[in-house]
Amino acid sequence: MTGEGRYILSFGAGVNTAALMVLLIKKRMRFDEAVFADTGGEVPETYEFLEVARKYLAEHGKNLTVVKNKSGSLYDACTRRSVIPSKMWRWSTRDFKVYPIHAYYKTIDDHIFEYLGIAYDEIHRMKRSQADFVTSIFPLVDMRITREGCIRIIKKAGLPVPVKSGCFFCPFNNADRWREIHDTHPDLFERAVALEEGSKHFPRQNLRSGGLRNLVERRFQDQPRTRVVGDEPCGANCMV
Ligand code: SF4
Repeated sequence: MTGEGRYILSFGAGVNTAALMVLLIKKRMRFDEAVFADTGGEVPETYEFLEVARKYLAEHGKNLTVVKNKSGSLYDACTRRSVIPSKMWRWSTRDFKVYPIHAYYKTIDDHIFEYLGIAYDEIHRMKRSQADFVTSIFPLVDMRITREGCIRIIKKAGLPVPVKSGCFFCPFNNADRWREIHDTHPDLFERAVALEEGSKHFPRQNLRSGGLRNLVERRFQDQPRTRVVGDEPCGANCMV
């Protein structure tokens, strides 16, 4: 669906939205700017890729706007409240992704057409915005571009393939992602453990079934690492 308004890419700094960014430019689609909601909890590689994307966009005359929750980082908010992000309630996505982006959209005196990076083989993740000032558009689905296709588009554009984005302490991290954080950023892994074990709901609630320390003992010994590539766990799923 198209019409008069502002066309904005909801940028997740992962594979899908990086490919979508390239596609919007290469195919000369209506595209005014990209917006990224920074929780303050990304791994360093994601912040590095954000700068790569900012440069690529600037070379093509587009801005990358970064928005944040006014209270500070998600990690600090969790620490203050002695909680971890909830898989069930998804308040972290709502308060640190969706609301800051929508607050920004409301500063624009126009209807928003929001490009979302759902790949064709992830069609089940499609979720249209419920906000009446936003219309969701899914070009990767419309063009039947899969995740593998996204990786090809990124490489062909001469850009690095981004690592999986999302908070280093995200409860949706799978074992491979935890392993990657543990091995690549032991300081961040320890901060995730501190958050989990400092939660007032620990050990009833944890960031990984059985707790992160158990994961290290049970799963990380003698198992080969795999590189984790993907989009942020909150992604378009929660762009309500
Ligand atoms: S990446 Fe995970 S922890 Fe961070 S906002 Fe999204 S769902 Fe919440």
